[in-house]
Formats: sequence, structure tokens, C-alpha cells
Amino acid sequence: MKLLRCYACPNEKGIPGFDFAADDRVCPNCKIDGKNPRFEQFIVTREVVHFDAPVDHPVLKYEMGVGFAACNDKISIATSNNVRFSGDPRAVNCPHCRETDVYKKVEAELDTRGVIPERDTVVKSATTGGGIKFAPSEEK
Ligand SMILES: [Zn+2]
Ligand SMILES: [Zn+2]
Repeated sequence: MKLLRCYACPNEKGIPGFDFAADDRVCPNCKIDGKNPRFEQFIVTREVVHFDAPVDHPVLKYEMGVGFAACNDKISIATSNNVRFSGDPRAVNCPHCRETDVYKKVEAELDTRGVIPERDTVVKSATTGGGIKFAPSEEK
């Protein structure tokens, strides 16, 4: 099953780009066949974004992910190339991640938490010694 988009069909906002999941590059709506060279430009493959669930830790919760896909712990941030992850459920489009209990739990909590904070790492230059040190950014 691939995540695909048909640019010959509008989405729910009326903008070209109807999203669907299928094994075949054929739009279920307008039936355009993306395997036909005349129409292949209309059917594009979407990148899969997996859910990187927050670590189960009272302090780091929501500020760090566990580092692997919720749908498959073999898909790891450390070892997978060209794989996308997000800790924000709204950015996740992997249908298997969206079926997991941890995804549903965090998504349900979005209503009460609002935007999940991002923790950026600020690199500060050392005043002496010429090295660099890493420090977490100030909480907003
Ligand atoms: Zn279509
Ligand atoms: Zn996934």
C-alpha cells in the first residue's frame, strides 16, 4: 500500500491534490492511471511520515521521542535513511502508526495540550578554550 496523491482531483478544500492509499497508481476518484506515461505527472507518491512517540519519562515526556516508528520498532531514527518521523500527530500520515494506541492517546491529548513544544538545541560558543558546548534552549 502506497500513499499517493492525484493532482487531477481536488481535495476537501477544493485545492488540486486528492490523497489516497493504494497499491496501484490509479486514482479511485477519476480513475486516471499514473502508470500511463500521459498521466504519470498527475499521480505522485507521498512521503510516509511515521509517529515518533514521546518517551515514557516524567520529565522528558513530549520533549523527546523514543526514536523509532510507532508502527514498527525496527524503523529507527538512528539507522534508517530517508525515513521521516514526527512527534506531532497532525504531521503523521503513516496509516499503521495512526492505528497504534500510543498515537491515539497523544492525538487525544492534543486538545488539552495544544501545540507540542519543540526543544531546539542551541550551540553556544565557549567564552574561553575555543570549544563549543551544547545547551538546551530556554523554555518558551
Ligand atoms: Zn483523480
Ligand atoms: Zn508508521
